Amino acid sequence: MCCRDSLDLLGRAVKVTARATCRVTLARPVLQSFVYIIPGELTHSICPGVRVRIPFGRRHEIGLVESVDARPKSMEEPGKKVRLREVLEVLDAEPLLDDALLRLCRWTADYYVAPIGLVHRAALPPGLLSSRIRTGAAQKTRQVVRLTTELPTLLARDRAFGKAHRQREAFEVIEGLGGSAALSHLDTGLGFNRSVIRGLRDRGLAEIVEQTVERDPFEVEDPVEAPPRSLTPDQRVVLDGLIGQLTTENPGIALLRGITGAGKTVIYLRLIKAAIDAGRSALILVPEIGLTPQTVARFRAVFGDGIAVLHSGLSIGERHDAWRALREGRKRVAIGTRSAVFAPLTDLGVIVIDEEHDGSYKQSETPRYHARALAAMRARTEGALLVLGSATPSLESWHNALEGRYQLYELKNRATRHQLPAVRLVDRRIRKAENVGSVLSEELQAAIKTRLNENHQTLLLLNRRGYATVQQCTACGWVAMCPACSVSLTWHRRRARLVCHHCRWDEGVPDRCPECAEEKLTFGGIGTEQVERVLSETYPAATIARMDVDTTGGKWAHGRILRRVLNREVDILLGTQMIAKGLDLPGVTLVGVIDADVGLNLPDFRAAERTFQLLSQVAGRAGRGDDAGEVLIQTLRPEHPALLHTLTHDYVSFATAEIADRLAPGYPPHRRIANLVVSGRDETSVADAAEELAEWLESTIDTGKLSVCVVGPAPCPIDRLRGRWRWHMLLKADTASNLGPLLRYAARHSPVGGSCRLEIDRDPESML
Ligand code: ADP
Ligand code: ZN
Ligand code: ZN
Repeated sequence: MCCRDSLDLLGRAVKVTARATCRVTLARPVLQSFVYIIPGELTHSICPGVRVRIPFGRRHEIGLVESVDARPKSMEEPGKKVRLREVLEVLDAEPLLDDALLRLCRWTADYYVAPIGLVHRAALPPGLLSSRIRTGAAQKTRQVVRLTTELPTLLARDRAFGKAHRQREAFEVIEGLGGSAALSHLDTGLGFNRSVIRGLRDRGLAEIVEQTVERDPFEVEDPVEAPPRSLTPDQRVVLDGLIGQLTTENPGIALLRGITGAGKTVIYLRLIKAAIDAGRSALILVPEIGLTPQTVARFRAVFGDGIAVLHSGLSIGERHDAWRALREGRKRVAIGTRSAVFAPLTDLGVIVIDEEHDGSYKQSETPRYHARALAAMRARTEGALLVLGSATPSLESWHNALEGRYQLYELKNRATRHQLPAVRLVDRRIRKAENVGSVLSEELQAAIKTRLNENHQTLLLLNRRGYATVQQCTACGWVAMCPACSVSLTWHRRRARLVCHHCRWDEGVPDRCPECAEEKLTFGGIGTEQVERVLSETYPAATIARMDVDTTGGKWAHGRILRRVLNREVDILLGTQMIAKGLDLPGVTLVGVIDADVGLNLPDFRAAERTFQLLSQVAGRAGRGDDAGEVLIQTLRPEHPALLHTLTHDYVSFATAEIADRLAPGYPPHRRIANLVVSGRDETSVADAAEELAEWLESTIDTGKLSVCVVGPAPCPIDRLRGRWRWHMLLKADTASNLGPLLRYAARHSPVGGSCRLEIDRDPESML
């Protein structure tokens, strides 16, 4: 259906002539696209957004046509004596990306200084832009590894595995996933190669079987409560306002700040319904689908088959199915994580970003885009309304609302009669002497005990996994460090390994100091595994479940644990920040935070903001049922504003104070920043390259009379990662438009080269 007169990026009609050319992007880490001649026989089938096969060097590659240029070109690339080559084949009958999405990709590549081909790849379902062509056919079966034996005692495990640590680890991971796991998940997802799994089979401990793929994992969801028939007066005001905005020419951006349980989701449902009824489509972004099954289920309950769930846990076939259903208009609502911002919806009416403050909306590797920024751009160019929702908005969004760039809506009360829980700080400084090194203060112990007696549930947060994060020699001070990163190794006691949480390096636990042979090693930095042990010793009769990356490796493992909690089979749920997100657990009346200082002490200007958000979020999990909730927060910094404002559930005061504190150092939301990281294998070259880059930036800024300043260079907080040394500098500017041109210029012309690499992270979410 590609026609002769297609539209180029600027929307101009393009008359395709015999010597016309096109710009093709490749999914490679290069900034430019490539010009190819369109041979006469392909003029009818080529248009922006289709994939093509092209000669590249000595090979053939699959690329995406970004634009078509009808003006006859000489056979040489402009400015270069390179003879242009011809497109070999067109692979799609219809564009995979329409003009609006191509434009969004172009904006993303320019704004974040990211390789355009990698942006195109991020915008499409997996596999379409690799050089191997996939048919996209739905996968009907997959190989599943199933354990065939139980090894109930440690002794039996030691005997069965001997020195085969990886096999033991794989066995225990599969065990943790409920006794079976997809082979592909074990190898690509968790890094156990096939020989490890075959080893398990050869020992007679597991079998590998073919299993039919569940077509739609969300179909087996628990029934959800029906949406309330009527809205509260507060909700009504908000919904009317949003619907009013929706129906205007330029709906703009709305920020909905509503405390947890205020009924925001109910409003999203009605707003989207209104958009659909008006013949438009809708997009919902959530932080992590695996962690928000209840939210997804509520949307499914209302939109049924009309909603496509875009989820990295789906098979490639399933993702293609969902994507195609949206592109063809068979489904009009999409829900998904960050990358769903590229969902191929037409006539977009509304985009909702739930928990808009969540850090997972920023991609941490190239292309390092923020889904909120893309959603804003997309909403504006497609005439849609963007709704940002949160109990604790990012300070950037809050600032935008206060300055009138976003329309602000607030819900200050819970929709139900349940009150927000009472929050108390447990000052661990005073208790220290009488309670040295204990994980649970007396207050927290007593509170848990009460819940156990009354058959209520307890939620415990500790945002640090493993057993202990530092192992140190008491004689010489040696610390177990990762050989590739400048971080200490975390002891995972059950797996009996020391593990790097950054590069996944793991090694055995030494029984003596490798430096001085001292046998006494100390363990610091308590993790969830240790808390689990303390809990099981303190409350031997209680059923305890732990939820962190180590226990939720499987896609649905999280849902399984959650279901056990909802069924009241669990007394105490312990976990990392995963337990703070979007869960509605009516049986929980006590929330305990084991150590609130974990995130506060990070060298990041957002440390206080993140801590406040996490604590508010986890506090919001208490008392959602009929019984009142209580929250206890253990800390050594009880006077810190992030904690004090959590006590009173006072977002506005926290935000006001924190925004004021960021003025002097010049951080967002006052200024726009970019983090420039120089990395390489040689420490001195990296430091030199960083110094040179900073000087080059200073002089470029000077010459261009730009109002940007350079802070640094300095070693990154984690100054070595995966074997590469890292230095960084921050660029700060008053406006985004001051920063963009400089970053794009630097990406192409900076002096960093040779053995060193420059990475640009615009609007960074993490400074580590
Ligand atoms: P949020 O998304 O702001 O956390 P929810 O939409 O999940 O809040 O609502 C919290 C609870 O209040 C849910 O159990 C929901 O069914 C209930 N609720 C929301 N709005 C109403 C209403 N108008 N009447 C009765 N119950 C409501
Ligand atoms: Zn030692
Ligand atoms: Zn490491």
